[in-house]
Amino acid sequence: MPEADYVFPPPPRTAIPVSGSDVSYAVRRIYCVGRNYAEHVREMGGDERQPPFFFQKPTDAIVLDHAEVPYPSITSDFQHEIELVVAVGRGGSDIPVEKAAGYIFGQAVGIDLTRRDVQVDARKAGRPWEIGKAFDQSAPIGLLHRTSGSALPTSGPLSLTVNGNVRQKGDLSQMIWSCAEIVSRLSLQYRLEPGDLIYTGTPAGVGPLKVGDVVVGRVADLTPLTVTIVDRSSSTR
Ligand code: MN
Repeated sequence: MPEADYVFPPPPRTAIPVSGSDVSYAVRRIYCVGRNYAEHVREMGGDERQPPFFFQKPTDAIVLDHAEVPYPSITSDFQHEIELVVAVGRGGSDIPVEKAAGYIFGQAVGIDLTRRDVQVDARKAGRPWEIGKAFDQSAPIGLLHRTSGSALPTSGPLSLTVNGNVRQKGDLSQMIWSCAEIVSRLSLQYRLEPGDLIYTGTPAGVGPLKVGDVVVGRVADLTPLTVTIVDRSSSTR
């Protein structure tokens, strides 16, 4: 449809650069896994026998590497969660665990930014988590690397530093649901489509950020992800 046929110009498409390529990965939906590392479940006061679950963020949440992230409104406890992100490359539903890798295009380092105080209040009140999780610029993501080989990662270190100090340190082997299990389970709830990202959960050590912090996330041998937290009034967006 030509642009003149819309009441206002359509927004630019959210896309992520792909390592070693001139083409980008167009983002469709963003899914996240809640409580996928037992030690993080414990630090949040949860019951690790309860299975992980999914929630979503809007496409507007995407922030690319080396971007500035404004400290968001209505929170005084803005927190980081380092996560491996897997990017769906092929559509499907009811995907068996052993076939999951065939639906994944690539992987990247991600950070699930959270208004922790607001999330906890919503949880206590029995309300949805959106206000604590699904806000603008809450989903930084690094360079996307094509998945090599026929299997999704089951081990490898992940860590997050703030101003050079290590805050989170874990290993993908500590996941309660593996990447393949996540893809399979999510595909029972929604038909997965190319462009769907899945943030796979965070290990222990989540904590608060402040204006001026430089946050670096690392997962195995993927390109590290760096973002800087800035004051909302100085943000250009
Ligand atoms: Mn998370």
